[in-house]
Amino acid sequence: MTRFERALVTGGAGFVGSHLCEELIRSGTAVCCMDNGSTGTPANVQALRDSPLFEYVDHDVSEPFPDVGSVDVVFHLASPASPVDYQRLPVQTLLAGSHGTKNGLDLTVAQGARFLLASTSEVYGDPLEHPQRESYWGNVNPVGPRSVYDEAKRYAEALCAAYGRAGLCDIAIARIFNTYGPRMRDADGRMIPTFLGQALRGEPITVAGTGQQTRSICFVADTVAGLCALAESGERGPVNIGNPDEMTVLSVAERILDLTGSRSPIVHIPAAQDDPQQRCPDITRARTALGWAPRVGADEGLRRTVRWVTEHSAAA
Ligand code: NAD
Ligand code: UDP
Repeated sequence: MTRFERALVTGGAGFVGSHLCEELIRSGTAVCCMDNGSTGTPANVQALRDSPLFEYVDHDVSEPFPDVGSVDVVFHLASPASPVDYQRLPVQTLLAGSHGTKNGLDLTVAQGARFLLASTSEVYGDPLEHPQRESYWGNVNPVGPRSVYDEAKRYAEALCAAYGRAGLCDIAIARIFNTYGPRMRDADGRMIPTFLGQALRGEPITVAGTGQQTRSICFVADTVAGLCALAESGERGPVNIGNPDEMTVLSVAERILDLTGSRSPIVHIPAAQDDPQQRCPDITRARTALGWAPRVGADEGLRRTVRWVTEHSAAA
């Protein structure tokens, strides 16, 4: 049971958002899911449609919000999140982070609710500090291809901090690191669904550049537990939510080959511009302030994801 009666989850039909909606309903919190279906799909929350605790509102967060009824917490997740998606939807991404965050904050103020921003490790850019602590200010190219996402989230953090400082509402900022699991779209272009799809189809695994760049991957159930723990706490953050188990991209590809038993070859494609070379969260703050730490290791999480992808493609 959470301390909240009813949550607004923007981006609730997306990958992380749909797991968050499920977890909130499982713990007795009613959910209003607001989404425009741009990178997610109502199918992700289809199983919740029968619940009396669940409501779906088709709406673009960049536009003024319709009446969503009473809520005591707002989780703002609406934004394209994969580099392929946000580079395809650059202006929409900037608007979701700016206008969308302001619309969510204003609703929060009007209702005396708590606001949680789903920010990102991308605010650290290509980091010059490693692992990344929340005190690090980041190294972001403001006009590069990733800037539409990175700067939108940095602006969203600044807006939340300003509302919080002014005493307008209760805010929390989560800096989420690479999260994976069931319901990531094969075509969303991110490393894990791309490699998994390629491995299962027997196609070459496309490792960008040398593959020596690192990421630290967190299973979605752990990320959702971190978001809920932050919302339940009185913390403002920012708080890193991620799994500090750092791996090279090449080793992620190799683990996926092992787990799927695939004979796909690994091929190297050109490195992405401004690709962060290393990324690993310092989660001391989440451990001490929230009592949260990830529980699912990479092998277990990847195995569960492979199982979902296999069942899902068999059903399709
Ligand atoms: P996703 O693309 O699966 O989900 C995003 C959802 O937001 C989709 O359902 C999409 O339709 C919706 N959306 C996008 N723009 C919208 C708009 N203008 N109005 C209404 N709905 C809109 O991505 P995800 O991986 O689930 O990411 C969810 C959130 O978590 C994002 O804010 C993302 O920045 C953040 N995050 C995710 C990760 C990760 O690794 N998955 C890491 C860091 C931060
Ligand atoms: N990547 C890759 N091959 C792909 C997709 C991604 O090698 O087909 C690399 C990408 O260049 C980056 C890492 O995998 O170094 C993680 O990319 P992703 O898009 O998953 O997330 P990011 O952390 O960059 O937002």
